[in-house]
Amino acid sequence: MTLPAETDVLIIGAGAAGLFCGATAGKRGRRVLVVDHANKPGKKILMSGGGRCNFTNLFTEPGNYLSENPHFCKSALKRFTQWDFLELVNKHGITWHEKKSGQLFCDTKAQAILDMLLDECAEAGANIRMHCTIEKIEALGEGSAPFRYRVSTSQGIIRVESLVIATGGLSIPTLGASGFGYNLATELGLQLYPLSAGLVPFTLSPEQLQPFKDCVGNSLEVTAHCGEQQFTESLLFTHRGLSGPAMLQISSYWRPGKTLSINLLPAMDLLAHLKDLQKQRPKVHLLTVIAELMTRSLAETLCNLWCSNKPLADYSHKEFEAIADHFHRWELIPAGTEGYRTAEVTLGGVDTDELSSKTMESKQHPGLFFIGEVVDVTGHLGGFNFQWAWASAHACGTYA
Ligand SMILES: Cc1cc2nc3c(=O)[nH]c(=O)nc-3n(C[C@H](O)[C@H](O)[C@H](O)COP(=O)(O)OP(=O)(O)OC[C@H]3O[C@@H](n4cnc5c(N)ncnc54)[C@H](O)[C@@H]3O)c2cc1C
Repeated sequence: MTLPAETDVLIIGAGAAGLFCGATAGKRGRRVLVVDHANKPGKKILMSGGGRCNFTNLFTEPGNYLSENPHFCKSALKRFTQWDFLELVNKHGITWHEKKSGQLFCDTKAQAILDMLLDECAEAGANIRMHCTIEKIEALGEGSAPFRYRVSTSQGIIRVESLVIATGGLSIPTLGASGFGYNLATELGLQLYPLSAGLVPFTLSPEQLQPFKDCVGNSLEVTAHCGEQQFTESLLFTHRGLSGPAMLQISSYWRPGKTLSINLLPAMDLLAHLKDLQKQRPKVHLLTVIAELMTRSLAETLCNLWCSNKPLADYSHKEFEAIADHFHRWELIPAGTEGYRTAEVTLGGVDTDELSSKTMESKQHPGLFFIGEVVDVTGHLGGFNFQWAWASAHACGTYA
């Protein structure tokens, strides 16, 4: 079936932002068409949160986002909040639970959130066309008003008043990710901030990995530091390197060559602990003490790397200081990250100075909008990226 000859709003990308924008604009009475090159809408939603979609965070605030302009996201986040999205979720009878730190997940499956978005689109009269590839976008002259763009697609040519780019980031190409939005922005002369994989596991070199080969699958609560930023969450040793929420979070702040500093025992003062135990249990060996604080295989690996294994009575306080320093400040330079293959998000993107924070409209190209992950706004792990998708989509959908 070919596309209609014209529409008020054409949204490219039937992901989180595109679908919600479609529903919002449709409810204003706009004729809306959402197109996508993939075979199914919302594939990332289905994969998200381990299949249960961490759809928002109760503690969402601008400080949870990385952007060259940290103020840009404030307006949209304030006008469509986590409470607004939760109200919609409740209206659709979707049951949910808070996992930790305000992270809200579906009780059942992520499909519930996708179904909700599709129902909202249907109710608003927003049509969705899959398998639709964009071939060409041309700006129209004043004579074509109110239409401002002609879009050639694999399903026909359509004239549109508002064109919304909601094509997301580069992560997980097998889920339909493409550089479409970034390439279009560049072609149209919009500034982009450099792209890189965010919320992504670290890889280590074979030499760095070798001592940890028996620790794969082990995890522990750590504080990971990179520059000024720090996160206290769990770290997981993998076949390739380091993963777990603490590593994913700090990866968004890491750049190749930068040092990571990891406090492996953030909840305690190891030096004071060792000094106390030296008095209370002088005959006990250091490895036994460390193995009381983490898994045995990790304790063995780290003791092999950093310390001898003697009865506590045989250590000087200076030696304890050096040992405690190793555990509280493990410094390493990762070889790299796993990249877009496993990253949850793409850092960087369309420079927010190019867009109106009220409407997400391009300042240079009236009628052209960018929303969601394609914009240089990236959230921390924990439901913040979806909340940005909803908020930016809502800002655009109430205007486009
Ligand atoms: C495995 C995984 C788990 C995640 N879990 C969470 C989570 O639990 N909570 C959270 O907040 N965030 C999570 N995220 C991040 C979140 O999924 C994204 O931030 C969010 O989906 C971005 O929304 P978007 O609409 O901008 O892009 P997307 O949801 O990626 O949608 C973009 C759409 O555009 C389409 N498209 C791309 N290129 C073209 C093209 N050339 N032509 C036509 N269509 C195109 C794609 O097919 C896709 O449907 C996760 C990400 C991944 C990869």
